[in-house]
Amino acid sequence: MLAVEMRREAMPEPVKPAAAPMVATESQKDGRRFLVSRETKPEDTVIKVGGATIGGPRFAVIAGPCSVESPEQMINTALDVLSAGAVILRGGAFKPRTSPYSFQGMGEEGLKLLARARDITGLPIVTEVMDSEDISLVEDYADILQVGARNVQNFSLLKKLGKTRKPVLIKRGLMTRVKEFLLSAEYIMAGGNEQVILCERGIRTFETATRNTLDLSAVCVLKERSHLPVVVDPSHAVGHRRFVRPLARAALAVGADGIMVEVHCAPQEALCDGDQSLTPGQFTELMNDLRPLSIALGRPVVVS
Ligand code: PEP
Ligand code: MN
Repeated sequence: MLAVEMRREAMPEPVKPAAAPMVATESQKDGRRFLVSRETKPEDTVIKVGGATIGGPRFAVIAGPCSVESPEQMINTALDVLSAGAVILRGGAFKPRTSPYSFQGMGEEGLKLLARARDITGLPIVTEVMDSEDISLVEDYADILQVGARNVQNFSLLKKLGKTRKPVLIKRGLMTRVKEFLLSAEYIMAGGNEQVILCERGIRTFETATRNTLDLSAVCVLKERSHLPVVVDPSHAVGHRRFVRPLARAALAVGADGIMVEVHCAPQEALCDGDQSLTPGQFTELMNDLRPLSIALGRPVVVS
């Protein structure tokens, strides 16, 4: 027998890796099983909206402007992202802005324009709900309700979203730990809504070269701990349009279930987040980049 094989035989039995830890260790003391946890539900959650699925074998691309600004802007951008291959349309009607003097969104008028864009393109729409008071209004128009980064721990909003029938896309906060993020999703699930999508959109770190720091490690951890779909928003993470494409590729490679990207038919005229918005041409290039990569990785991009 070769010396190497003898040594191999003498080796102890490999230790089996421990099961993925529960979401919040302190709550394990009471033996609680978290609804978001893979221990409770080992198989991936797949969410269907219109003709799109998030969390299935395919990689879902959500795209559209930061904010709904006008009929022309919304419809043109919607048609552009449709022809490039997006499967869900985004656009904010209620905007969480740092300054009270910045454009705050078109409100219900914006929701109506989103609904019109859906009628024209057939794409389901995701839009942010900022306030509990607006849930029923936004729900009337949206296919997916978005919780913005700044509301990730607005527990009364999360509890009310637990009572809605629409899927909820919840964004990680600027300072939210993975454990806290999962517990925010748990609030929605505990209320009875099982259709939750997690969105990593960058966290605030000491680095100022980019708007935020995209935490791709969190995607791996979230996918290990939770059965919920995870999408990455490279636009808000990086803040500069030229870096969105490489980070979108990285999101696909790391195992995310999709991306959410800001696209504007004329980014230089955007009322919000123009610097990070792709032109329709750049978005088409991004999609052309993702297609072969997605096939190589076994997560084909959904083509509408
Ligand atoms: C957005 O998606 O338009 C948005 C405001 O993102 P965030 O909440 O991640 O800042
Ligand atoms: Mn934005």
